[in-house]
Amino acid sequence: MLSTNDHDPTQTPAAGHSAVRPRGPSTAAVHAGEARQKPGFAITDPIFASSTFTFPNTQSIIDFIEEKHPREEYGRYGNPGERVVEEKLAALDGGQAAVLFSTGMAALVGLLMAHLNAGEEIIFFDECYHRSREFCRKHLTRFGVGFKEVPTCDYEAMEAAITPRTKFIVSESPTNPHLSVVDTARFAEIGRRRGVLTLIDATLCTPYNLKPLESGVDFVLHSATKYLGGHNDLLAGVVVGSHELMEPVRHLRGIMGGVNSPHNAYLLQRGLKTLALRMERHNANGLAVSRFLERHPRVERVLYPGLESHPFHAVATRTMRGFGGLVTFMLKGTDWRQTAQVVDAVQIPRIGPSLGGVESLIEQPMVMSYWNYSASERATFGIPENMIRLACGIEDAADLIADLDQALATIATTSRPSVG
Ligand SMILES: *Cc1c(COP(=O)(O)O)cnc(C)c1O
Repeated sequence: MLSTNDHDPTQTPAAGHSAVRPRGPSTAAVHAGEARQKPGFAITDPIFASSTFTFPNTQSIIDFIEEKHPREEYGRYGNPGERVVEEKLAALDGGQAAVLFSTGMAALVGLLMAHLNAGEEIIFFDECYHRSREFCRKHLTRFGVGFKEVPTCDYEAMEAAITPRTKFIVSESPTNPHLSVVDTARFAEIGRRRGVLTLIDATLCTPYNLKPLESGVDFVLHSATKYLGGHNDLLAGVVVGSHELMEPVRHLRGIMGGVNSPHNAYLLQRGLKTLALRMERHNANGLAVSRFLERHPRVERVLYPGLESHPFHAVATRTMRGFGGLVTFMLKGTDWRQTAQVVDAVQIPRIGPSLGGVESLIEQPMVMSYWNYSASERATFGIPENMIRLACGIEDAADLIADLDQALATIATTSRPSVG
């Protein structure tokens, strides 16, 4: 009926052909997971704004329960639009199955609750997102799950921390705001050899820059709120892995209910279409801005994996297509107020948390995320008062650089007028 065009040999590759020549990330971002012909002959997927899905009669309910016809039943277990996005995300990451959640944190909680049991333990590299570690330290421990952390990228310490109770080892790559880059192949190898599951939160690299599943990691997680959505207009999260390992996650999500509304899933699908284009620009802007900052006399140090000076430059260039839009830098000899003065003086990046959208965002981690911590705690976390985190959007690099240049020129000279 709707699919007369589906097998037109001039339009689709012959079976087996696409396996020989895998399609690139931009083609996957646009087309993966989508039917060639859609309801109403529309080129876009419809938004099925439906909480429930009806059956023509009792026999069709029984057929559905006996898995004779795959279809939707009730919105908490799935929505057609959400499934399209899940297939697209699985294809982008090179995984068998993806499960979409309402936020990145819901994805993390759903994954860990589905796989961890009382008496088991989880080990993190210590630069992971503080809310992820907080969930394990404060909450999973209430259910008898042990929590440990070891210094980021200290693979010997990670191995030494593994015990027969260990179920999961977890890292992000790159980390935020220090941008440490994990050797995902080495990380996966530790997990395989020691029989523990491996999880990489790849929010900052996205499948465009790195696919951790290809190095043998069991699960990759993204806060789709960031680059995948890409427009600072939605929250979502996703976990990708094998059918076998993702099945319990999908099942638990159906019970916990952390699903996306059909409208939100559509926004994410639309954002994903330009993922490769946007990442090319985020990568280019991150590199151009970090090179500019590194040469600037008022900047003490820049952390960006694409710079030769970055401690993880070698592993980053070996494994990543690009280095993303996040740039962290320390000003030369400024206290927190002078640092804030520079943040307040920029005119293009908006001041706020988050990253990965088309609009650049700037913040001072000490104020935005660590204001309620003591100076010694901040020293332990590596958050000095002269640190600024810039999430480059897709604006023109020359404009971002000119803007930073004028903002840096305000240091300790004037108390600046407020900017609109
Ligand atoms: C933002 C973020 C999260 C949490 O995602 P939400 O969508 O905000 O819940 C997890 N990990 C990383 C690396 C993040 O940047």
